[in-house]
Amino acid sequence: MVKVEFRVLHTLLHTRKGTDRFPLARLRSHDSFARMHIDLTQRVAVVTGGANGIGRATARRLAQSGARVAIWDRVTAVGEAAAAALVDEGLEAYFVEADVTQRASVNAAVAATVARFGGIDILINNAGIRRDAQLVKIKDGAATGGMTDDEFDAVVAVNLKGVYTCTQAVVPELLKRGGGRIVNASSVVALNGNFGQTNYVATKAGVIGMTQVWVREFGKRNITVNAIAPGFIATDMTAQMPASALDAMLAHTPAGRLGSPEDVANAYCFLVSDAAAFINGAVLSVDGGLVIGS
Ligand code: NAD
Repeated sequence: MVKVEFRVLHTLLHTRKGTDRFPLARLRSHDSFARMHIDLTQRVAVVTGGANGIGRATARRLAQSGARVAIWDRVTAVGEAAAAALVDEGLEAYFVEADVTQRASVNAAVAATVARFGGIDILINNAGIRRDAQLVKIKDGAATGGMTDDEFDAVVAVNLKGVYTCTQAVVPELLKRGGGRIVNASSVVALNGNFGQTNYVATKAGVIGMTQVWVREFGKRNITVNAIAPGFIATDMTAQMPASALDAMLAHTPAGRLGSPEDVANAYCFLVSDAAAFINGAVLSVDGGLVIGS
């Protein structure tokens, strides 16, 4: 069930001329615009990589909307603290230690989640890592090294194969519930490429491809599969990037700021709601306009 407040839409439709024709331009806070209440009561959501960053904010946003949330992550102490913080807020959350690169671990996480909450309705494939390096590092016109096989394989194992493994393990649970929602973490760099990220970009582009395949495979099963392409979001992942790289991205971001984990969490929450029932196979950019500004 989704209730939408149409106050702002009403304002948009009923202003007449001059600057009043564009009241959106006067709305400074996205909160004052996004007065949408999403009800996920009775839904069980899995958020992989939910101990930190975007995953943690998404777990909180879904739980605030009434979902019972299983936080899957490989970092136990941080993950347990994330779940405990939600429980302290009166929300329903449960930490499950899971490594998305290990099928046995993922199968055990499915079993633990079903034992705790009785089933699964929503899968957010959020866990991700980066190991940046130029494909071939060049100095004075000569090759001096480059991305290693270990760097390539590690990123593929989490960002691509992890999404494949988790989805394959969770879909049988969605079928038992008569359908569900899957949302995968892609990235703006999958759409534009990015210097030094051969491995990461390959996985994020691959995630879009898998999303499109699964729309075709599960479309008749009442399961929607979408992807989110965040721009540069203030998390541990971007905190480790060189300031010059972030500055360059900001220069191309019309919004003029990094995104917050909550910006992305809101998009995930919308895509798993009843309001998004007919959105299937979309790649939703949440990037402050970066993909346009590039
Ligand atoms: P983050 O580093 O803050 O958090 C990632 C989480 O994934 C961590 O809790 C980590 O422990 C977990 N994780 C890593 N490997 C795992 C594994 N094998 N099994 C289980 N959990 C694992 O990252 P973030 O910035 O919040 O990014 C979340 C997702 O969004 C990633 O897929 C990332 O690629 C994507 N993304 C992030 C940005 C950004 O600017 N931060 C932009 C585009 C896309």
